[in-house]
Amino acid sequence: MTPAQTTADLAAGAPPRARPSLRRAAPALLAAVVLLLPLLPVPEFWITQLDYIGLYSIAVLGVVLLTGVGGLTSFGQAAFVGLGAYTTALLSTQFALSPWLALLASLAVAGGVALLLAAITLRMSGHYLPLATICWGLALFFLMGNVDGLGKFDGIVGIPALGFFGLELRDNRSLFWLIWGLALVAAFAVLRLLDSRAGRAIRALRSGSTMPEAMGIATFRYKTAIFVIAALLAALSGWLFAHFQRTVNPSPFGMHMGIEYLFMAVLGGAGQVWGAFAGAAAVKLLEDRLQAWLPQLLGSAGSYEVIVFGVLLIAMLRFAPKGIWHWVERRWPAPQRRRDWADAAPLPARARPAAAAADGAPLLVARNLRKQFGGLVAVKDVSFSIGHGEIVGLIGPNGAGKSTTFNLLTGVLPASAGEVSFAGRRIERTPSRQIAALGIARSFQHVKMIPEMTVLENVALGAHLRGSAGILRALLGLDRADERRLLREAERQLLRIGMGHLMHEQAGNLALGPQRLMEIARALCLDPALLLLDEPAAGLRHQEKLALVEVLRQLRGEGMSLLLVEHDMDFVMGLTDRIVVMEFGTKLIEGSPEEVRNSPAVRAAYLGTEH
Ligand code: ADP
Ligand code: MG
Repeated sequence: MTPAQTTADLAAGAPPRARPSLRRAAPALLAAVVLLLPLLPVPEFWITQLDYIGLYSIAVLGVVLLTGVGGLTSFGQAAFVGLGAYTTALLSTQFALSPWLALLASLAVAGGVALLLAAITLRMSGHYLPLATICWGLALFFLMGNVDGLGKFDGIVGIPALGFFGLELRDNRSLFWLIWGLALVAAFAVLRLLDSRAGRAIRALRSGSTMPEAMGIATFRYKTAIFVIAALLAALSGWLFAHFQRTVNPSPFGMHMGIEYLFMAVLGGAGQVWGAFAGAAAVKLLEDRLQAWLPQLLGSAGSYEVIVFGVLLIAMLRFAPKGIWHWVERRWPAPQRRRDWADAAPLPARARPAAAAADGAPLLVARNLRKQFGGLVAVKDVSFSIGHGEIVGLIGPNGAGKSTTFNLLTGVLPASAGEVSFAGRRIERTPSRQIAALGIARSFQHVKMIPEMTVLENVALGAHLRGSAGILRALLGLDRADERRLLREAERQLLRIGMGHLMHEQAGNLALGPQRLMEIARALCLDPALLLLDEPAAGLRHQEKLALVEVLRQLRGEGMSLLLVEHDMDFVMGLTDRIVVMEFGTKLIEGSPEEVRNSPAVRAAYLGTEH
């Protein structure tokens, strides 16, 4: 830790602005290629192939967001593509509606169905969700195939071509512009989204809900949002598909396509926006080649390519699980993010509970707190309190119930019995997200972070509640002022904890000690009134411990209250004002560090197990 490190040092020490790399010029290059390509003498065959790749990419982009980034595995993307395609097919043929108005209807139908399905299925965990996506995928497929009004398995023909200011987009060349224009807009919008407050929340979903919720992130809302966005992208692809083919039937929206979209996302590099394009291109081109070669090779027609794909997928999952785009990224890494937040306005401090409450009550009071796991009583009627600006230590041998107590105080686990009040409010039934909003932040005994995100982004998760920009603002790029303030706060907390130099590092590359410090910085971004640290010094070197003690003292000086679980007795004794000792789920004693040090009962409890 280098306590003297400041924002000015960082700015001074920053490398000279990187030369505009090829990556930075990529958007302009891509746009130029899309504009020029149809004007060049590219054979019709390849234009058509590219049209299909663009169509698939838009749908796969949804899978990347939902499954690759958000961790919600869905086999149902093809069904949403079908919803979009059938809605516009029906409205533009039967009701002669303009395809552009039908687009709105396609999006509304897919979005509405997604919202409904999300409400029913997104609370399912493990393999239940993928199974549910298979069920509705099959259901929608057979619905399309069996309803008279939808032409059963023959589908709907005679879908009008798209018109654009009097220009008919009949041929594959003019549709290329529309398809790829929309695909690129969608890709850049999703990239924007992922690099935002909402995007960090979405990227945190994969890690489970405990940590994000403890940072005040409404995980169910973000899951629903990416589910709906994925469905909207699918519907957009389906709408284009219908007016491209000018006919729809159920077969391109069946389960095999649902699997194929997922395959494209995984092959391209699940979780990578450009992976959607790489995966769609690889699958489409390979499929075509295989369809041409395999019958020649095997001497008979048949869908042999499906078998080859199956084998390929297994080989890929085994040998290159991160996909094509990961390979590209390694050779052509994204540029480090520019530090554009230095002059952002600081976030306002959050209102602290009045330090001297009228009745002189402590900040937090736990009464007869109890937690039972089946037959095991992990926390047995424990009572204690934490005063304003006080550092309380919670110690005891392994398995004493300290971490469980943390989970009860922060709403991560529901208490079996007992009361907790914080700043005069009862919180023993309050969900952890709301407890975070009230001003309690915590770290975890087993570090909970997003390894693929940078240290700065991980820490910024803690500032989630102090920002306001949502998904729409991020998609439109209107969140930048809000975003800069959050990143500035994240940097400030990292500097305070002595980790400024590591902010652009991937969190997963850090050693355990710095990972713990990163969690503390993240908790501090919440601007809490009470900070709960579960074994913060474990894995820290001596110097790092001393520096941490200094920071924690400083926090107390600013009026923050702290509850610490820690095994390092020097650390605890030197820092805390009061210590609660637990053993086998019960409170053994409570007292000053001196009293605890001299207690025979504590010595007996620790004998043979600790220091
Ligand atoms: P400490 O943090 O003091 O080492 P814990 O609070 O982690 O102890 O654990 C207390 C006891 O509760 C242990 O016996 C542990 O095995 C048990 N325990 C903790 N969490 C769970 C859980 N989710 N389910 C069942 N038992 C648990
Ligand atoms: Mg523990």
